[in-house]
This record gives sequence, C-alpha cells and structure tokens, in this order.
Amino acid sequence: MSPKEISPGKDADEPQTGAAMDRRSFLASGAAAGAVATAALPAQAADGIAWDREVDVVVIGAGAGGLVSAIAAREKGASVLIVEKNFDIGGRAMMSFGGLYIGGGNRMQKAIGVDDTPDKVFADWSRPEKPMGRFSDRALVRTYADNNLDLFDWLEQHGIKWDAYRGAPDRLDRSRTRLNVVPWPNEVTGPSRGSGFVRPLAKTAREMGIEILLQQQMTKIHRESQLSGRVLGIGVIEVDDRFQPKSRTMNIRARKGIVVATGGSAGNPIFRTMFDVRLTAEYQAENNDWTERTADGEIAAMEIGAALGATACQTTQDDNLINKGRMGKRCNGSATQIYATAPHFFRAGAIGLTVSDYQDVILVKENGLRFYDEMARNQDYEYIAAALAWTGDPQKMNGGGPIWAIFDAEAVAREKWQLKPPYVDPRGYFFSADTLEELAAKIVNEHQWRPMPGAALRQTVERYNSFVDSGVDVDFKKPRPLHKLATPPFYAAWHTPCLHDSYTGIRINTTGQVLDLHGNVIPSLYACGDSAGGFGQHGICRAATFGRLAGWHAAQLPA
Ligand SMILES: Cc1cc2nc3c(=O)[nH]c(=O)nc-3n(C[C@H](O)[C@H](O)[C@H](O)COP(=O)(O)OP(=O)(O)OC[C@H]3O[C@@H](n4cnc5c(N)ncnc54)[C@H](O)[C@@H]3O)c2cc1C
Repeated sequence: MSPKEISPGKDADEPQTGAAMDRRSFLASGAAAGAVATAALPAQAADGIAWDREVDVVVIGAGAGGLVSAIAAREKGASVLIVEKNFDIGGRAMMSFGGLYIGGGNRMQKAIGVDDTPDKVFADWSRPEKPMGRFSDRALVRTYADNNLDLFDWLEQHGIKWDAYRGAPDRLDRSRTRLNVVPWPNEVTGPSRGSGFVRPLAKTAREMGIEILLQQQMTKIHRESQLSGRVLGIGVIEVDDRFQPKSRTMNIRARKGIVVATGGSAGNPIFRTMFDVRLTAEYQAENNDWTERTADGEIAAMEIGAALGATACQTTQDDNLINKGRMGKRCNGSATQIYATAPHFFRAGAIGLTVSDYQDVILVKENGLRFYDEMARNQDYEYIAAALAWTGDPQKMNGGGPIWAIFDAEAVAREKWQLKPPYVDPRGYFFSADTLEELAAKIVNEHQWRPMPGAALRQTVERYNSFVDSGVDVDFKKPRPLHKLATPPFYAAWHTPCLHDSYTGIRINTTGQVLDLHGNVIPSLYACGDSAGGFGQHGICRAATFGRLAGWHAAQLPA
C-alpha cells in the first residue's frame, strides 16, 4: 500500500475510504469512525483559543508509549484522542526487535525456571558499574521494576501475544528479562518484530473508541500562561508523507491532560548537540525514514517551562547510541531491514548493503584516511570516539564528517552485493569509478565538505595493501588484513554511523507528570518513552511503564 492511499485519520490496517478527507469535511464529520464523542465547540473559548476539537486526554504520538497511555486513560473512563505525525501508527517501536525487558517473576519466567523478582529487575537497571545505572533516576527505575509484573498481565489483556524469552545472554547481561512479542502477521512495514507490539495495541485502542489522527503533527502545547497554570491543549498541523505542512493549525483542547509520547530527539542535531557537540548533522537517526525523532515533544514542553531529566544518560554511549550499520544508503542503522515494497521505502531511498565481513572494506573519512580497525564491534567506544573525531572542516568545528566504505570488484564478488537500486542509493550515498582518483572526485554529498583528496585515498589503499602483504596493520591493528583493494571498479558507500536511542528528555516524576525547572509539576502535562528523561533504558517497556501510569493519572484528573 502506498502511503498516499492512507487517509489522514485512518490507520494503515483500517479500511481505507480512498481519497484523503480534507480538513474541513474531517472536522465537520466529527472525524473517523470509532471516535469518542467530542463536545460541540464554541468558536472562541474563554481562554482565548479557538478550539477545533475537545477531549479529556490528548496523546501525542502513536508509538509504544502513546498507545499504552491512550488505552490506560480510556480504561479509566476518559475520552482520548491520539495525534500522530506519520501516515501510520507505530513509531520506532514498529521497526524495533520487539523484545521487552520485562520480568520480575512472571508465569513465563517461572515456566522456564528463571528465578526473578522486582528487586532483581531494579538491580539490573541501577547498578552503578553500568553507565545507565549510574546516571538514571533510581526512583523511576524502582517504579519500573515494581510495575513489571502487573504490566506483563496488562499488556497481555490488551492484545500483546508473548513469544519467548531470548535465553542467550545479551550485551547488557539482562537476557533473563528479555521477552519477545509475536510479530503481526503480513506486516507491510518490514520484517521487524515490533509490529507485534504496536498493531495489537492500536487495534485494542480503536475497539475502545480511541481516535487516532494520522499525519497530524503537534506543533505547540497551550498553557494558561507561558510558564504557569495548567496545560490546555495542543496545536497540530496536517503534514504530508514527507512531514511537510499541508494546512493551518487546528487546536485540540484537553480537558484533563496531555501525554507527550513523541519518541525522542535523536534525529534533531540542534537538540542532541546540547548533550554531545560531536553529534552533528551527518549522523542520521536510525529509522528516520519511518519515524522522525525531531524532539517536537521536548521542544514544545520546554517552551512552556519543562525541565530535562538525567541528561548524562545521553552521553554514556551505552547500548547502541551509535550504530555501525548497513551502508550505501542515508539511514544506515544496522538493525532495521527495509523492503523495497515497504510503504516508507520512498523516504529510505535504498535497502542498503550488509557487510558480512569487514575484511572486505576499508573505512575512510572525508579526507581519504583510515581512522580505526574496521573489524571493531558496533559498540566499541574507541571506534565511536574515532568516528566522531574532527578532521578539520573549518566551517564545522564539531563532528567527524562522513565515513565511506571503500572496496573493489573482488569484495563485491565475495559479499555477493548487488550494486544498483534498490540496494544502494546513487543519489549521494554510493559511487563507483575505474580508478581511486576518479572515485574520490565523484564523491559528492551534502556532508562531504570538500572533494576527497584522490592522492590521499590512493596512498591509503596502497598502504593498506602493503599490510595485506605483511600480515600486520601497523596503523590500526586490524587483525591480519586479508584482501587487497586492487581490482577495479572501485566503490564508495556511505558508512557514516547512525544514532539509535534517545536517553534523555523531559523530566518526569514516578507518575509520568512533567516537572519544570523548579521541580514543580506542570499541571496536566505528562511524558513517557524516549521523550521522557530520567531513565536511560533502551526501550519499549520503559515507554509502556510510564505511558500507562501517565494515562491512568491524567484520566483521573478533574475535567
Ligand atoms: C531497530 C530498532 C530496534 C529496537 N529494538 C528494541 C527492542 O527489541 N526492545 C525494546 O525495548 N526497544 C527496542 N527499540 C527501541 C524502541 O523502539 C523505542 O525505545 C520505543 O519505540 C520508544 O517508544 P516511544 O513511544 O517513546 O516512541 P515511538 O515508538 O518512536 O513513538 C513515537 C511516535 O510519536 C510520533 N511523533 C513524533 N513527533 C510528533 C509530533 N510532533 N506530533 C505527532 N506525533 C509525533 C512519531 O511519529 C512516532 O510514531 C528498538 C528501536 C529500533 C529503531
């Protein structure tokens, strides 16, 4: 299904009506089927804002945290509306591996003889020897741990089908609690298991009468006055499938509360360089082709006084902050595969190439020089530090610039790569030539601030080839370099790292309420998931934990 066939206000697996509803008829109709009744609205309310819609709880973002939050609010009797900027629900959770860190001693753990308790879960995420444990807010971690058991049952009751505990130790040593969901059948977005988390929840949400407005981007949170009083509602703008504005702002009043669940800030270079100045624009955010992470929620909340929480988590480089990934395409994260038939393929541009053996490539920076052992693990902090090190762009004093994988025709044969669209994106992310000098000259990309020096690239390759002869990489200690780069054509594929998670965001308390710079609650405002700070966990379960608490809390406020 092409995204253009999906009407705003409809989910991709809902029946489609054909032509997209225009905004006027959409508003006049009271919106899509299954909508919770909304009150007739005055043209201009007492607060001076012309409200177009009104519900009890507005949730911003239909990903992991948002869907859980909406269901939680609805089950406590609130009318709920979700606004989602993408043309489909799911957020990054849709693209995820769908493995939740959820334990505490549930029936599935007991069935396989795993001994677990909430205290052990708390210890997992608060151990000071792990950076995330050192820098996360223990009160939030405790809440997370104490909710694991009940959340397991609750998610099951709301449609999640559990598959199995992974068993194999993961790099965080928390495999005891890593539980996969069953993927959604015939998923159109790709092979990732995460659909098995968000599709069932979206189905449940609709069955409960929760309305999900697609391609509606929140641009503002209204508060009684900028830095005081309760929050009143949000401004949204309809966007096209490339997130470009399509219509004037619509205002949605929230009688009880607003939950920010916008998925984080990793895709916003201005925002993320507040925490790490090296994370400049050449580093794409993994999965940006499915869901942007432009810190919309954080910025809107900060504009009305919200603080940020546990910002040190963002700079720990723990757990996949930057991915080595695929190559030959713009967003080259390692984890997500994309089909050429996926509805968002038009944004991705290419499937990308997976490097099965890093003996087959060398990695060079914009200056044509190698910088590290190509065999380094994805999470090797020294590799990341070398990748992010400045090479001298006088216009851009921070960031390491583009990284290119260079290889020859024999590497292509060994890896069995197909070097044409849809596998690679020749529009700035993949180049070939018969000589290394020609290849260097051809590399034109918005982040390649000067032509790659051809002589430098040749010298790099010749030196590397000499390491293959000698069997020793004296520069970067790549274990026994095996293959020379000698057979034309030669290739350059974009291999610049991607950012994975957002580990800081809006400061919240243990019920998901947003705190301001003075530590006070901003009345009626909540946050969860990757847009909430305080607890640097990779994950769906963190989003679900605080999303559920926020939804419950908001629904029980007076209207
Ligand atoms: C490849 C990959 C694998 C992963 N694997 C796992 C895993 O196995 N286990 C795990 O626990 N976690 C995993 N994660 C991480 C997990 O997906 C995220 O932590 C989780 O989805 C965060 O939930 P969220 O609700 O904060 O954000 P999301 O799920 O991303 O949802 C945010 C939603 O908000 C929308 N939005 C943003 N701005 C606006 C706006 N202004 N207006 C309206 N809507 C907006 C977005 O479009 C998006 O749909 C993985 C992530 C990736 C990319």
